[in-house]
Amino acid sequence: MKTLIGIILKAHSGFFTVHTEAGDFVCQLRGRLKKERRQTDLAAIGDQVEISRQPNGAGMIEAIAPRRSALARRAPLGSKRVREGKGKAQVIVANPDQAVFVFACAEPSPHLRMLDRFLVLAEAERLPALICANKCDLITPEAARELFQLYPPLGYRVIFTSAHAGIGLDALREALRGKISVFAGPSGVGKSSLLNAVQPGLGLKTSAVSQATAKGRHTTVYSELFTLDGGGSVADTPGLRALTLWDVEPEELDGYFVEIRNLVSRCGFSDCTHIHEPGCAVRQAVENGQISSSRYESYCRLRAGDF
Ligand code: GDP
Ligand code: ZN
Repeated sequence: MKTLIGIILKAHSGFFTVHTEAGDFVCQLRGRLKKERRQTDLAAIGDQVEISRQPNGAGMIEAIAPRRSALARRAPLGSKRVREGKGKAQVIVANPDQAVFVFACAEPSPHLRMLDRFLVLAEAERLPALICANKCDLITPEAARELFQLYPPLGYRVIFTSAHAGIGLDALREALRGKISVFAGPSGVGKSSLLNAVQPGLGLKTSAVSQATAKGRHTTVYSELFTLDGGGSVADTPGLRALTLWDVEPEELDGYFVEIRNLVSRCGFSDCTHIHEPGCAVRQAVENGQISSSRYESYCRLRAGDF
């Protein structure tokens, strides 16, 4: 049997749109696969699959490659099932290579607390993160750099873009090439505009329209991968917004702040929360300016359960 290798772009009630060299095919899952994969979602966007072509022009998914990784949503934290490790995962994207967190330099001004929360998620998922500072046409380059200056020293690359003025698009395209990228960010920062600019012809709806339809999509965690001409694909997933820190125990949080993680071993108490204990190396680093007070504030808020 001649088969094709492809990637799932869309999943919709038992049907999957699979992108292959020979085009896109709407496929169903071969029955025996349903028995093999009980634990997590059978197949999700981002999964690599082998399909056979059916006489009617559709396809049949014959095999699913093992996942390298997955962004998944579990049952709510605190539920018994999760504690017992049985929380059934709803896979939002399989095999993501990186997260791209999009914020605007202005209109709306960047919500860095939310960015820090996203970065914690990425660290917890071991997903490399990239920051995209869009609408840089609205302020001076110096002001834009200053807004995001905390992040490059922590190892997070910041790409300054303007979907309107065409700034930074080549750099962004290059960063996306050959990878599965998950886009996330508040609405109105220009995610759709940016993707349309990176990939002309994509035709994503922007501004008012996208916000109206986004509402319904939030609840269903419906998402889709868009393939890029240069290779690679992007998930613009409302589902990521719904991701909370279910998987992060308060005691683990310090491990997901890159500048805090290395200091933890120097605290006086091994179970230091870095909030009130004497001899805390983290608080000392905040005092002497080694750790930014903004990032520390984000840590304290997340630690207190304020997401
Ligand atoms: P999304 O909700 O993140 O997908 O944002 P949209 O792509 O819908 O954009 C929201 C608004 O910001 C729209 O009115 C866009 O025209 C505008 N916008 C998007 N990118 C830029 C940009 O680079 N510069 C400026 N000045 N406005 C932008
Ligand atoms: Zn401490």
